Amino acid sequence: MTSLGRRAFLVNTGTCVAGASAVALGFVPPRVQAQETRQYKLLRARETRNNCTYCSVGCGILMYSLGDGAKNAKPSIFHIEGDPDHPVSRGSLCPKGAGLVDFIHSESRLQYPSYRAPGSQEWTRISWEEATDRIARLLKDDRDKNFIQTNEKGERVNRWISTGMLASSAASNETGLLDFKFARAMGIVALDCQARLCHGPTVAALGSSLGRGAMTNSWVDIKNANVVLIMGGNPAEAHPVGFKWVVEAKIRNAAHVMVVDPRFNRSAAVADFYAPIRAGSDAAFLLGVVNYLLSHDKIQHEYVAAYTNAALIVRDDFQFHDGLFTGYDAKTRSYDMSSWEYERDGQGYAKKDPTLQNPRCVLNLLREHASRYTPELVSQITGTPEKDFLHVCETLASTSVPDRTATILFALGWTHHTNGSQIIRTAAIIQMLLGNIGMPGGGMNALRGHSNIQGFTDLGLLSTRLPGYMNLPKDSQQTLDTYLQGVTPKADEQGEVNYWHNTPKFFVSLMKTLWGDHATAANSWGYDWLPKWDRSYDMLAYFELMGQGKVNGYIAQGFNPLAAMPDKNQMRAALSKLKFLITIDPLDTETANFWQNEGVYNDVNPKEIQTEVFRLPSTCFAEENGSIVNSARWVQWHFAGARPPGEAWGDGRILGTIFTKLRALYAKEGGACPEPVLNMQWNYRDPEEPLAEEVAREANGYALADIQDASGAVVLRKGELLPDFSVMKDDGTTSSYCWIFAGSWTQAGNQMARRDNTDTGLGNTPGWAWAWPANRRLLYNRASLDPQGRPWDPRRQIIEWNGQRWAGADVADYPPTSPPGSGVGPFIMQSEGVARLFSRKALVDGPFPEHYEPTESPIAGAALGKTVRHNPVARMFPDDVARMGGPEQFPYVATTYSVTELFRHWTKHSRLNAIMQPEQFVEIGDRLAERLGIAAGDRVRVSSKRGYIEAKAVVTKRLKRLNVLGQQLDQVGIPCHWGFKGAARKGFLANTLTPAMGDANSQTPEFKAFLVNVEKI
Ligand code: SF4
Repeated sequence: MTSLGRRAFLVNTGTCVAGASAVALGFVPPRVQAQETRQYKLLRARETRNNCTYCSVGCGILMYSLGDGAKNAKPSIFHIEGDPDHPVSRGSLCPKGAGLVDFIHSESRLQYPSYRAPGSQEWTRISWEEATDRIARLLKDDRDKNFIQTNEKGERVNRWISTGMLASSAASNETGLLDFKFARAMGIVALDCQARLCHGPTVAALGSSLGRGAMTNSWVDIKNANVVLIMGGNPAEAHPVGFKWVVEAKIRNAAHVMVVDPRFNRSAAVADFYAPIRAGSDAAFLLGVVNYLLSHDKIQHEYVAAYTNAALIVRDDFQFHDGLFTGYDAKTRSYDMSSWEYERDGQGYAKKDPTLQNPRCVLNLLREHASRYTPELVSQITGTPEKDFLHVCETLASTSVPDRTATILFALGWTHHTNGSQIIRTAAIIQMLLGNIGMPGGGMNALRGHSNIQGFTDLGLLSTRLPGYMNLPKDSQQTLDTYLQGVTPKADEQGEVNYWHNTPKFFVSLMKTLWGDHATAANSWGYDWLPKWDRSYDMLAYFELMGQGKVNGYIAQGFNPLAAMPDKNQMRAALSKLKFLITIDPLDTETANFWQNEGVYNDVNPKEIQTEVFRLPSTCFAEENGSIVNSARWVQWHFAGARPPGEAWGDGRILGTIFTKLRALYAKEGGACPEPVLNMQWNYRDPEEPLAEEVAREANGYALADIQDASGAVVLRKGELLPDFSVMKDDGTTSSYCWIFAGSWTQAGNQMARRDNTDTGLGNTPGWAWAWPANRRLLYNRASLDPQGRPWDPRRQIIEWNGQRWAGADVADYPPTSPPGSGVGPFIMQSEGVARLFSRKALVDGPFPEHYEPTESPIAGAALGKTVRHNPVARMFPDDVARMGGPEQFPYVATTYSVTELFRHWTKHSRLNAIMQPEQFVEIGDRLAERLGIAAGDRVRVSSKRGYIEAKAVVTKRLKRLNVLGQQLDQVGIPCHWGFKGAARKGFLANTLTPAMGDANSQTPEFKAFLVNVEKI
């Protein structure tokens, strides 16, 4: 049968439109009609379930691949669409997710390993064998030469600081676990991940305030709010599908949505109310809200009294004066925190005054502390008109009643500041005062950025961390006992859960995972083999050392630090001092090519750069099995839908192969402290290529002997997977890499792969995937009921007491059999059992938040009524201080941000996204543009003390001129998406402009507020 095209068909039948209509009406023989119908494109395609690799909404996707399993058919993904069953995304994808196919097939996908020799101007293709042999040799030689077994005091520290490693933020948890074992076995302390650059301050702030440093509620739960405050984030652009639950709150719940942001952004376009603010002044705004709530008596009294530390009495010697808390030492730029504590009774418990009359109780101290932030002062500092500020105060205050809630959505707009942790703490205090923590439709919703940065934070991939939010031991903690005593808190109130008292069980179970049978009680479970830290080796600190020539080797896995770190020119100079750099990435990144001359975009002389570089191609999300954690702590399992392109390997295979070779070298040659390298448990079916499934089970943990309960009954047989963390032991009979992941893969199977989207109430879907801890979806949910167990709002009841235990739509975040009225506090991770308005010694810059100016600020200190202008304990390296500018030369406040169509520096490699946003631009307010003679589309140069970028000007009314302390102030918006690699037009890395100063607690850089100048080119 010859084929009949549409045109030939029309000619042959002698018809045109009328004939076509006849076809539609069914008057044409079936054989001809069948030939005209386009074949259903998904016919015979294989469907695979996965998740979007970009943001932390974690949208479900269905990937369709050709290749139906026939022997020589190689699957290739040709179509991706949203998973309609996914409870959050319900079939939606944003422009980033819609371009995923182009990411998978990007021309920038690396196909084979390549090598750049010192001084060379080109890449050379090499084999995996050559690459991994050479890397193992380089690592071993550097480690053997520079390993530090004991410090100058003679303490055993077992660390290696001349080589460091950056872990990804989109790789699976299973890769993360292998990263940790790989790095810590060798003694690497400079292990860090993207969390350092995004939500580090969230973890510090929410952990110290509430007990856990994570988003409290979930994406779908946003629909239960009466009020939504979006500040320090822009979810309509950065988390578009998650944002639909804000719209749902408006539609279903008549929620009032408010946006406070330097730009009238796309979230503001959908909101009911928008207020402008000067970038970097958020803490002043929020402290003003605290003052408003306390001075207008708009707090949820019963909640505050029962569920916060409002009534606890603070030591007499704790004071605050002129921007400083008690104990400041200007020489060391640090605090002696001893006075930041409660008064104690004879038993060591915190004293309290339930009547709240004592002037030294926390609530009264907070009232006094915040009283300086009057609406007038707030307006002067922030530039927000006073009436707009008061509108936000009044609207939030409307939720101080038990049956209304506000949710707060924030992201990097709050974290990227030298006082980011304190900004977030202030917001948490507002929610505590309003009784909005633990409530459906309430909470502190930290919108994490990358698809698995929550997971990598959970897994302890930060320089001084261990999995499950434990700390890596420091030099002074020389014995296991000293360490455990130092990190295991005692209850501050009688009868409180103080769940961290179980730390020894979590820690010993981790050690059994790391060292296996080598970990015994006699050797303190291999405690000595863990590297100890003497100082932070966070990314900023480590690049400082690199710039000083003190670092030899660096591994960047799924990370593009040249584009992501602040002050790109300084970072490039630091990378140029390395002896070797290893990049592991699916894409060809700027970091791998930092030595290439790209003209104005990267002006270097390759001949002068003596770094040898290995560029190793890895798989992407679509080519691997594994799990990732979304912002709401849902651990979701995904499946490979295709094989890797060319010779690319999975991350596990790359790490497994290098580590196996390294171990073989140590076994054969010996070397510096070989024990941790050789004793690290790496007992996978194929050590060179661990399977995601076996690693995931290892993360959950096993019984290593029969486990008995208190009555002596065996509850778990040797070899069985742990059902949850409650069965963990500190006697070496259980193993678990990450205690909060216990329950994710049990004897009942892989809980992360579950797909029951039944709504058990208020949008809760506990049968979909699995959430840490213990599959709880709403953290602190016991606080949604009063102490007697009655819901504050019957329409928002999510758990209930059934007479014997807690039940309901969610898993209670509470001891399951502690009845109503037992007096046990609902914040079970806190040693007080309650949320902290006063955070004691948990943060280095103060137990109450305070507004400090960004490091580069247009404001003079005296205008704030205090002499201390900047965060007094923010770390300042002299090199960075020398690269700070002032308002005389750089008069405008700049802030970086993301746009809907692009995700950081990844989507510029995806053709669809590059088409949508092909060219770099900056946003300039119309009044500033007029003054500088800039029209829309003109090219402009934006410069800071650290360098310049050039881009097209978008002249807009979205950035208003503000009146700040009587001064007319303009702000400039800098999207950070372009670079010199990828499918979009070449552009400047926006981080050329940004300063390398970080949040005092987490060292997360101040990307959101710095000074620039703007000129028309
Ligand atoms: S980028 Fe985020 S919102 Fe967009 S599709 Fe991916 S996960 Fe969903």
